[in-house]
Amino acid sequence: MANRIEVHCTVSNCHYWKQGNLCDANQILVTNDRMAAREPDSVDAPQASRLAQTTADRCEATCCKTFVHQGSEKTGVDGVYRL
Ligand code: SF4
Repeated sequence: MANRIEVHCTVSNCHYWKQGNLCDANQILVTNDRMAAREPDSVDAPQASRLAQTTADRCEATCCKTFVHQGSEKTGVDGVYRL
């Protein structure tokens, strides 16, 4: 069983966000902005072990690829779910 860490997030219009600025996704994928822009929505944390490694020079060049806008029909296309 994977270790569970507490992810704090302030992006309150994300499907996985919950009160207290916490992430309620079962897993997330943090990557650099270039990969996030290149890969489709179906590529996310469940595929992470098969993805190429990336680099970033600054925190501003990284992002949460698991973000899904609240109310979006794209929820669930990547195998990520709410806990
Ligand atoms: S999926 Fe990403 S953007 Fe959404 S609440 Fe979790 S950490 Fe924040």
